[in-house]
Amino acid sequence: GKELSSRNSLTYFTDEMKDTSRDHFEIEMNLRKGLELNQFTLYYQPQIKASTGMVSGFEALVRWNHPEIGLVAPDVFIPLAESTGFIVPLGEWIIEQSIRKMSELEQTGAENIMISVNISPRQFIHENLPEMIFRTLALYNVAPSRLCLEITESVAMEENTLVIERLNLFSEKGIRLSIDDFGTGFSAFVYLQDYPVHEIKIDREFIKVLTDNKKSKALVKTIIDLAGNLELSVIAEGVETPAQLDLLRELGCDYFQGYLISRPLPSDELEKWMNQFEY
Ligand code: C2E
Ligand code: MG
Ligand code: MG
Ligand code: MG
Repeated sequence: GKELSSRNSLTYFTDEMKDTSRDHFEIEMNLRKGLELNQFTLYYQPQIKASTGMVSGFEALVRWNHPEIGLVAPDVFIPLAESTGFIVPLGEWIIEQSIRKMSELEQTGAENIMISVNISPRQFIHENLPEMIFRTLALYNVAPSRLCLEITESVAMEENTLVIERLNLFSEKGIRLSIDDFGTGFSAFVYLQDYPVHEIKIDREFIKVLTDNKKSKALVKTIIDLAGNLELSVIAEGVETPAQLDLLRELGCDYFQGYLISRPLPSDELEKWMNQFEY
């Protein structure tokens, strides 16, 4: 598959984005045009159940296929999309594509596979989000229980009635809720005790150093135990080495994803990858 654009072009792009509000405006115009011209694309990274080695699902990850720069990573444009509101139409496109891909996977016989979609804070509180999600699930005949929404702690921590109502609504309808990048923010994880959250996702920063020292191991063990005590699932992201995986297993981690298994895959390579995948 294609790689993300080179560091040079990314740096060029990022520098440009840091510039002035006029540049921001221009880039936002380009983002909007990019959506019209179909320049966005979703990649999918497999998630694996640690106890069985079976594929449990895929995380949808967006890229911008810019005509001059090439494939642009989401870290570069999602923050801008979030601050300008462009994340709302882009997010709707992402949700629709992911759910459609899920219905395609089901038609090829893949059973009990989940699709995880990242939802940014502004997107999460947008008034149309629940209706849009339910309508799209119905349109493609996909059960809500096949969809997992990855939200960040900054969303979950907000003592906001809208947020709580939404979490409850999604949960009642059977949609799974995962806390992405767990432990990297200002973790006031008191929200875990009464929010309908189903999964904690351990951030790659913890996994990177997991096998380096005792303290890193203790931290990850603490997160996994916390999830277990609260009867939540726990998934590790950014697993790159067999040593990391062995340790995560030993600590009781339920699911994992990372380059060790696969990089995020272009949409049209998923089925082939699933057929070839051996644990
Ligand atoms: P995230 O949701 O925490 O996604 C995990 C990131 O880690 C992804 O980067 C993924 O490609 C990368 N990754 C996975 N396994 C490994 C590994 O083993 N090693 C390393 N070094 N990296 C790994 P990506 O795709 O560049 O996405 C970055 C962030 O952009 C995501 O972090 C998420 O916050 C955001 N993002 C991506 N797609 C979307 C989207 O569709 N909507 C929204 N709102 N945000 C998105
Ligand atoms: Mg994520
Ligand atoms: Mg994450
Ligand atoms: Mg992350």
